[in-house]
Amino acid sequence: MSLSQKQMDKAEAWLSRHMPDRTCPARRRGNQGFWHQLVTAPTLQGERGTIPPMLAFLVAQCDHCGHAMLFDAAKIGIIERR
Ligand SMILES: [Zn+2]
Repeated sequence: MSLSQKQMDKAEAWLSRHMPDRTCPARRRGNQGFWHQLVTAPTLQGERGTIPPMLAFLVAQCDHCGHAMLFDAAKIGIIERR
């Protein structure tokens, strides 16, 4: 899912408040930008590991080394949690 301009603005505002220092924590070089798409990850439940529900994440990734961090898109407020 590609982010709309409104969602990107919201993500940028959230990251500015919660991660004002965008220096990469892995190498202390480079800056964390964010992808303009969300990624999903299944949550495994029970002994058999059933898949849904999915969680959606915003990916912040270093432009120098590629280190990436995931932020819950619902927590940021760019999608609604079902
Ligand atoms: Zn880095």
